[in-house]
Amino acid sequence: MPELPEVEAFGRWLLPRVRGQCIDTVAVLKPRLVRPVSVWAFRQALEGVRIQDLRRRGKCLLWDCVRPSGESELLVTHLGMTGTWQMLPDHGPLPRHAAVVFGVGEQRVVLEDSRQFGHLRLGNAAVPELGPEPLDPGFTPELLGQALAHGRRPVKVCLMDPSRLAGVGNLYASEALFLAGIDPATPVHQLGGEAVGRLHAVLRKLLEAAVARNLQALRSDRPMLYQQEGVPEDPSDGGLWVYDREGQPCFRCGAPILRFMQSGRSTFQCAQCQRP
Ligand SMILES: [Zn+2]
Repeated sequence: MPELPEVEAFGRWLLPRVRGQCIDTVAVLKPRLVRPVSVWAFRQALEGVRIQDLRRRGKCLLWDCVRPSGESELLVTHLGMTGTWQMLPDHGPLPRHAAVVFGVGEQRVVLEDSRQFGHLRLGNAAVPELGPEPLDPGFTPELLGQALAHGRRPVKVCLMDPSRLAGVGNLYASEALFLAGIDPATPVHQLGGEAVGRLHAVLRKLLEAAVARNLQALRSDRPMLYQQEGVPEDPSDGGLWVYDREGQPCFRCGAPILRFMQSGRSTFQCAQCQRP
């Protein structure tokens, strides 16, 4: 599932390709992704706009556009579980699960989404209310401490709560807690300042490395991590330490990786390397 680093990479990859360009045509092939307006209203709003900027908020990509009349229009897109952005020439076949196609000059910007949990919305009201952005320059260990300060829920569940912290999903929460050596079941009120500092450092490093790796994948036409069948084995090669590795030996200590459920989602952990 695309998380913060995937959406950030798509934004950085798309921006130089679309900035200043007009959306000449809008084709909606999977109408359920367009919410809550009708396909007709969606096309009316976007055909003819000029794309000024792309920004990310959490797992959403925000398209700042301006109409020929000078009015601004905001498109808010979410990739759901399986969405990807692609740039294709203005002719030739579309990908099998193409959902929405923007004709932009000589190219087409295509949102492909096989499971159709993504969405496209219009206007500022569609921007989600979220906690702080972990890649913001102003995101300090103190801010992470405040985000995790209240309640007694497990730290893994809190890391994935978008109202506390933007954009961190299951994969990067599991990996960050492994790298910080923190048991995912630790109630947040038991985390000390030192553990929060460690978590802050590894989270930033992990997300930044993942953005760079994803951008590299896009530029060389390779699939991102979440699009691959199975997970690459070697963390030094962009693979994962614990996520989706149940029963396999920990790369650090050899103990088998455990899987258990937290708030309906799988958590992966090395019980040797991650302590309360
Ligand atoms: Zn271990």
